[in-house]
Amino acid sequence: MLKGKTALITGSTSGIGLATAHVLAEQGINLVLHGLMTEENGINLANEFATKYKIKTLFDNANLMESDAIGKFINRALKVMGTIDILVNNAGIQHTEGVDTFPESKWNAILTINLTAAFHTIQKSLPGMRKNKWGRIINIASVHGLVASKNKAAYCAAKHGIIGLTKVVALECAELGITANAICPGWVDTPLINDQISAIANNDGLDFEQAKYNLVTAKQPLPEMMDPRQIGEFILFLCTDSARSITGSSLPMDGAWTAQ
Ligand code: NAD
Repeated sequence: MLKGKTALITGSTSGIGLATAHVLAEQGINLVLHGLMTEENGINLANEFATKYKIKTLFDNANLMESDAIGKFINRALKVMGTIDILVNNAGIQHTEGVDTFPESKWNAILTINLTAAFHTIQKSLPGMRKNKWGRIINIASVHGLVASKNKAAYCAAKHGIIGLTKVVALECAELGITANAICPGWVDTPLINDQISAIANNDGLDFEQAKYNLVTAKQPLPEMMDPRQIGEFILFLCTDSARSITGSSLPMDGAWTAQ
């Protein structure tokens, strides 16, 4: 059912986005790969996917800080691929610091990349989905879209915000065959959290693995990091017809973090 559809995944040069790209490509889904990578490396990555999975691919390194660049990126994707059936808003950044000293530049960057960029990609992708009477919008929020942690003012604001955006899009598209959902992961083993692990290692005099374990178990009852591929497989399920009634939902994959 999904073979031949096209998915655009922001931030698919690393971590959750890259793992999701592999999961979708295995099903014959064509891919728009995207992330902060040189044009040369990005084209190589796209070619590797095309050869390995026998799918059509495109790479773009649009900087999500710039709304004009996002517009050009989506228009290019539509022109080259013909359609965007599945939109995964995944790209994100983090900065941890108390609210008193949280730098305005970091606040603006986190809100722009983790939230505003998704508004732009959704706005540009929706007309095609409406025309096809089919679409899947999956926003990678976080457990921090549901609850807060100290030192994450901008991240929590952006992630709570993207859950609100997801709900509105779901309401506006409910009768059009388009679903919009947010996934709320706990800890996932990706480069995004390395700075937080290193900070614990430095402050507490621990090795990286022990610091990682301490970070995970501080709030998450399941004492392990998720493999990013698990999120890709959940995204794949949300794309199937069986999931057509799941829309407007914020779906935790958090090792019981928010059950407490
Ligand atoms: P990652 O650092 O491995 O990947 C981030 C991706 O975003 C990269 O491809 C990077 O190039 C891209 N990106 C960053 N800034 C960009 C910009 N200005 N323009 C274009 N692309 C940009 O991170 P990840 O852990 O895979 O994170 C993916 C998503 O999952 C993020 O939204 C993150 O908030 C969310 N998340 C992660 C975790 C976790 O524990 N890792 C937990 C919950 C939610």
